[in-house]
Amino acid sequence: MLRCLSLLVFLPALACAQKNVNPSIKLDQVGYPTDAPKVALVSTPARTFQVKRSGDNAVVLQGELSAGATDANSGDVVQAADFTSLRAPGTYYLEAPSAGRSWTFSIAPDVFSRTYYLAMRAFYGQRCGTAVDLGPEFPGYKHAACHLEGSFHSSSGKQGRRDNVGGWHDAGDYGRYMVNSGIATGTLLWAFEMFGPKLKDIKLNIPESGNGTPDVLNEARWNLEWMLKMQDDDGGAWHKQTSEHFCDFVMPEDDHLPSEVIGTGTPPYKSTCATADLAAVASIAARVYQPFDKDFAARNLRAARAAWAWTERYPDVTFKNPPGITTGAYGDPDCGDERLWAAAELWRTTGETQYNRYFVEHYANYLPALRALDAESWRVVAPMGLWAYALAARPESDSSALAAVRDAALGAARKTVERTRRNPYHISLGEGDFRWGSNGLVANYGMEMLIANALSPDRACLESALDNLHYLLGRNTFSISWVTQVGQHPFRHPHHRPSGAGHHPEPWPGLLSGGPNADRQDPLLRVLPADLPPAKVYSDDQGSYASNEICINWQAMLVFLLAGVMP
Ligand SMILES: [Zn+2]
Repeated sequence: MLRCLSLLVFLPALACAQKNVNPSIKLDQVGYPTDAPKVALVSTPARTFQVKRSGDNAVVLQGELSAGATDANSGDVVQAADFTSLRAPGTYYLEAPSAGRSWTFSIAPDVFSRTYYLAMRAFYGQRCGTAVDLGPEFPGYKHAACHLEGSFHSSSGKQGRRDNVGGWHDAGDYGRYMVNSGIATGTLLWAFEMFGPKLKDIKLNIPESGNGTPDVLNEARWNLEWMLKMQDDDGGAWHKQTSEHFCDFVMPEDDHLPSEVIGTGTPPYKSTCATADLAAVASIAARVYQPFDKDFAARNLRAARAAWAWTERYPDVTFKNPPGITTGAYGDPDCGDERLWAAAELWRTTGETQYNRYFVEHYANYLPALRALDAESWRVVAPMGLWAYALAARPESDSSALAAVRDAALGAARKTVERTRRNPYHISLGEGDFRWGSNGLVANYGMEMLIANALSPDRACLESALDNLHYLLGRNTFSISWVTQVGQHPFRHPHHRPSGAGHHPEPWPGLLSGGPNADRQDPLLRVLPADLPPAKVYSDDQGSYASNEICINWQAMLVFLLAGVMP
């Protein structure tokens, strides 16, 4: 009801009742940049389409649908409605005779700026150890300071109380995990490093806004400060800080389970993956915060060096949950890729020979990670290391390593572009990619395309990145926007404790759903029909943690993708 009222306020001509919206007409419910290709997909039989202006229902363009193509992942037969030639900024909808109309969408040069704002500001909503308030824009979306007291679990090698403030709640739960923080924070810092001129003046309405530092860096710092606290005096970083078990669906300030720094249980107690991720992220921070806060930049560089030195002493201390701990493990049997990323970032930041030498001696083992299928993840950060070396392009870099990385990155990108073009829904996901966090993977393929474009400008890469974004914002089999409170038909029931425990009709805004997951690791997915195609194995239900949870690493990739395609 509230949504209808707000529509009446902003879009009076739409009226509230959009009974004739047909979800078989799929398009980006946010919209399309003025100069970009514009395609909607229709999965019900029709021959022609019209684009109408939502203000006065005037027909502004009409055309014929393409021949149908069968999408193996969803079973849908889709026809494309190409309205690229429509360039006049405005709000529109698409209609197919006898099939009804679509949700509304916009055409504008900066059509994604609001979505970027919400997606980036969603990190503020995840802050731990402080009160959060999204008002007055989202009245009542707030929580009191949470998890203020912490202690060392016996597995950490230390005991007693511990400063607990800082970091982002990782996902639907309230844990904080170094490994996932690594890729999430690193991705956001990279977004600023690559697209800073577009982002630096965007105000996020967070407590630090107006302090002279760009808000994307202000927000990233909230998590960085926590990551730095997770470093012990010997340079190593503990793996996570969580309760022993997940709490109920309560607001964060009502979670009174003890928050504990958890280690490996035996000396040296810290883990190599966590420590190497810290080295990589702190090394990026040493670069990007330099113009805004030299002391903070220097503190990050010292932390990065100490962390790197620790991984040289302990190159393969892996993490498993100690007995009695059931929160996320983020376990990873191989920390070599995390070390490669750290070496590349330290080389990029310092130009010191030792880091270059390490990279050159090890990179070849990781080149296969730059493949067209199965992009990076919190577990596999080799692409970040390889891309970092290529993007650094220091004069003293090893020329054959540079050439090999560029060739592999661009070769993978070309194949991904081809696969995206062939896919009836114009997404990069391949067979087998509809698994836990498939929407994060969609955003990640977009990131891969944008990095390829940075290495060698190519409009095809940019367009594939945009295609992946369109899928996330509504051009998918469900005709659903997978970002909360974005678009006219967003998903509404994320596995996200503040959304579930609060009393608002809509979830907290700007959050990306995990997406369809054919592996069905939760009971709600397991009761769906056994013959459901992989792209349809999804449940917009708070209980479906395997298809509808939110997570900071996916969120960061969405932000990177939005930042990359914004003008
Ligand atoms: Zn908290």
